[in-house]
Amino acid sequence: MKFCQHCASPVVHQIPPGDDKLRYCCLQCDVVFYDNPRNIVGTLPVLGEQVLLCRRAIEPRRGLWTLPAGFLENGETTLQGAIRETQEEAGATVQSGDCTLYSLFNLPDINQVYFFFLATLQSPQFHPGTESLEVALFSETQIPWNELAFSVVRVTLEHYFADRRQADFPVRMFDLRHSPERQLQTTLISSSTGTFTPRSST
Ligand SMILES: [Zn+2]
Repeated sequence: MKFCQHCASPVVHQIPPGDDKLRYCCLQCDVVFYDNPRNIVGTLPVLGEQVLLCRRAIEPRRGLWTLPAGFLENGETTLQGAIRETQEEAGATVQSGDCTLYSLFNLPDINQVYFFFLATLQSPQFHPGTESLEVALFSETQIPWNELAFSVVRVTLEHYFADRRQADFPVRMFDLRHSPERQLQTTLISSSTGTFTPRSST
């Protein structure tokens, strides 16, 4: 960021009074521009034994398979955004009443948070949107495990097929961090089937 989006003056990178982080500030407008993590919302669309995947038409990871997902827009709920992305990228219709929150990923190294919802496909009708090369249904044995675009997609699919055998689909939260060797480490932080015991206040 170089210029103020209000008055077009050059911005300065400094720690505002009372803050402890560097921010872009316009001294003319006395405005601080906060740069916070971005929310990415998507679905795992399910039809019977199969799940719907999209092959990416855009970078990064063009040509690899992913779940329909994209950036949450202002004015949307996370579920509304996930349903919209499913329609835009996969031409697939899912209803909010047929969706449930399933996996949440914190990616603090790249300032992103992912939300995936399990979603029942209304019908086997779908078509690639502008950001997809193709869209297809896969059974567990057909999943292109070596051609998945993102770790969040692989982890979500792995848990889905394991959960299906148990007929139990807990909501899980994961942290994804890069080790110093650039290896991606996935840590399960919480699962909704776990018991929660508040610490006593004594
Ligand atoms: Zn300004």
